[in-house]
Amino acid sequence: MNPWLWAVVGVGGVWLVCRGVARVRLSLAKHPSLRGHGRIALWLSKLLPHYEYAETEAYSVDGAPPEIAERRRAAMSRLQELGRSKAPRTTALSMELESGISDVDFTNAYRVPFQFRELVRRRLRVGVVAERTLGVQIGDLDGNWYYDLGGAYGTNLFGYDFYKQCIDRAVDRARELGPVLGSYHPLVIDNVARLQAISGMDEVSFHMSGTEAVMQAVRLARYHTGRSHIVRFCGAYHGWWDGVQPGPGNPRPPHEVYTLKEMDPATLTVLRTRSDIACVLVNAIQALHPNAAAPSDGMLVASDRKAHFDKPAYAAWLCELRKVCDDRGIALVIDDVFLGFRLAPGGTQEYFGVRADLVTYGKTLGGGLPVGVVCGRRAWMRRYRDDRPSDVCFARGTFNAHPYVMAAMNEFLHALATPALEASYVDLDARWDARANALNARLTALDLPVRVANMTSVFTTVYTRPGRYNWMFQYYLRAQGLAMSWIGTGRFIFSHNYGDADFAAVCDRFAAAAAGMKADGWLWQSAELTDRAIKRRVLRELLGAALRRTSGRSAPRAAGAAVRANTA
Ligand code: PMP
Repeated sequence: MNPWLWAVVGVGGVWLVCRGVARVRLSLAKHPSLRGHGRIALWLSKLLPHYEYAETEAYSVDGAPPEIAERRRAAMSRLQELGRSKAPRTTALSMELESGISDVDFTNAYRVPFQFRELVRRRLRVGVVAERTLGVQIGDLDGNWYYDLGGAYGTNLFGYDFYKQCIDRAVDRARELGPVLGSYHPLVIDNVARLQAISGMDEVSFHMSGTEAVMQAVRLARYHTGRSHIVRFCGAYHGWWDGVQPGPGNPRPPHEVYTLKEMDPATLTVLRTRSDIACVLVNAIQALHPNAAAPSDGMLVASDRKAHFDKPAYAAWLCELRKVCDDRGIALVIDDVFLGFRLAPGGTQEYFGVRADLVTYGKTLGGGLPVGVVCGRRAWMRRYRDDRPSDVCFARGTFNAHPYVMAAMNEFLHALATPALEASYVDLDARWDARANALNARLTALDLPVRVANMTSVFTTVYTRPGRYNWMFQYYLRAQGLAMSWIGTGRFIFSHNYGDADFAAVCDRFAAAAAGMKADGWLWQSAELTDRAIKRRVLRELLGAALRRTSGRSAPRAAGAAVRANTA
């Protein structure tokens, strides 16, 4: 054969082998679950059929005997009546909002596993309107007060009263200028200086949400590296935009994003060997449940939610990531939108002792108003090149650095440097760990199969025995006067103004709610009821529903109609 042909075949062969090896490495670094395979998960999500349990079967899908099912049905009626009598105005307005605000419609639909959706929607309404806050409590329209475990999605770090003050003062300070955009209020310079000191970075850019801040950090990383792909870790949330949300939730298939296993050496190998990676995104809340998505009760089909925070292990992981990013010229982006200022004044960087190239902030930093911020080293933040004038990385936004937001941020940053707030970080972990331990000790003593795991002041609920009705716990907690966000018991976000007495009150209510669950039969056990058996049954139901769908028989509607008939 022609030697040139040999050479071409040889080079082609080597190229193919290299591509094959790179592909295998990438596959090894992906989480084996669907969370690690966005494309397949998206495809499957389109096939997943809907079906619902009629009320006649809904109380015994775990095989519980009729007397337990009857106890559950009676409890459901009691909770329904409690909601009606205790919060009629709040419930009525919430139901009205559901038909007009698509966000409310969506979150209400996803509070429980979809098989129970219709039943719960008709029986248990959750109030989504509130009128006032005081201390660590929120008041509804009917004069009821709830301990707040939702934490305004993490924005409420120092207590609502603190943010009310920030906003009031901000309005006073920004009033003279008003909502002028384009020119900066002079107080912005102080925000920049304080953010530079806190983040250890050279430059700052202001945006309107955490999502936008992450978008800009990723765009800068791509611009400066000239590489296409980002690495995000399995389960981690970085806002709702396409680029960081591969898989279900996003109608488009994943594009230029690798979702890899966190705390896994195979991921380091990919970072070390691929040349198309611009940045790695880290959201350190994942340290509480590596590679799992934010735990939501809508997904609480069985009791296999796990959580355990190991600070030294996560710090070691971040240290390894830092090193490989340095070696490979990859930007390490710490997304501190949620955890910034919560773990330590310097956020994830300070708490775990790791240095980022770009950091994103949001939520609490706005002093109660909406904001997103990127802080970064000068080389990463620059949006143009001296030698190529049309090669720019454009990022502007009408409301960036809005004077009122900047003034509220300034109030926040000033307060952060006061002795009172500095002192609030002393022994922070010890305080919250002790609280979590005390609650767990109490639950153990009462023989209740519910526990909490925590990362500082962020808690998650885990269930120690198999059960199909753990999602009901959120309604018992609400009945006890505890308010949480729509994902339910998966995430409690405490504000740091929770005193010991407040926390003790939460513990009392938490234990009472769990005891109520037990008394009402929802925690019924049998030897056959394992997590595996539960999932096998659900899988069988899904397959059955899929078959009915393909054969044109519309079982889901029929089941839904049965629910409606039973609850009218
Ligand atoms: N990143 C992280 C880590 C977040 O927790 C969030 C919000 N939960 C975002 C980004 C998106 O922020 P926003 O909702 O303000 O757009």
